[in-house]
Amino acid sequence: MIEGGCNCGAIRYRIEGSPLAIAACHCTRCRRQSGRIYSVNLVVKLSDMAVEGSLESFEDTRSDTGNSVYREFCGDCGSPIRSLLAGSPGIAAVKVGTADDPAALAPAFHVWTSMKLPWVEIPAALPQFERNAG
Ligand SMILES: [Zn+2]
Ligand SMILES: [Zn+2]
Repeated sequence: MIEGGCNCGAIRYRIEGSPLAIAACHCTRCRRQSGRIYSVNLVVKLSDMAVEGSLESFEDTRSDTGNSVYREFCGDCGSPIRSLLAGSPGIAAVKVGTADDPAALAPAFHVWTSMKLPWVEIPAALPQFERNAG
């Protein structure tokens, strides 16, 4: 089980079981929204995730796949929490940095590396995908 939440405590979540995948995304939209050089996400079944509190949502219509991405965040403190993908219903991509204990949640692969910043180094052992995985 994975628990986490936002900076102010208005949002808390709990994910049952293990994530389906842990992926780092280098796309420009995730970069800007997370404020990070790349965004590490827990890919989980939406039905495995329970959220307490009311998430605000930004419909990102300029995602690189062309499908809307609903970027959900805490309306009180602004912490980004998760994204819902119109192209992958039933799946949530949860920002790993919002987990209470993210130490063991390292990314297993990197996606959208075609947009990777030149000074970001990816460990050689990890698979990389220029666009989406698979
Ligand atoms: Zn908050
Ligand atoms: Zn992305």
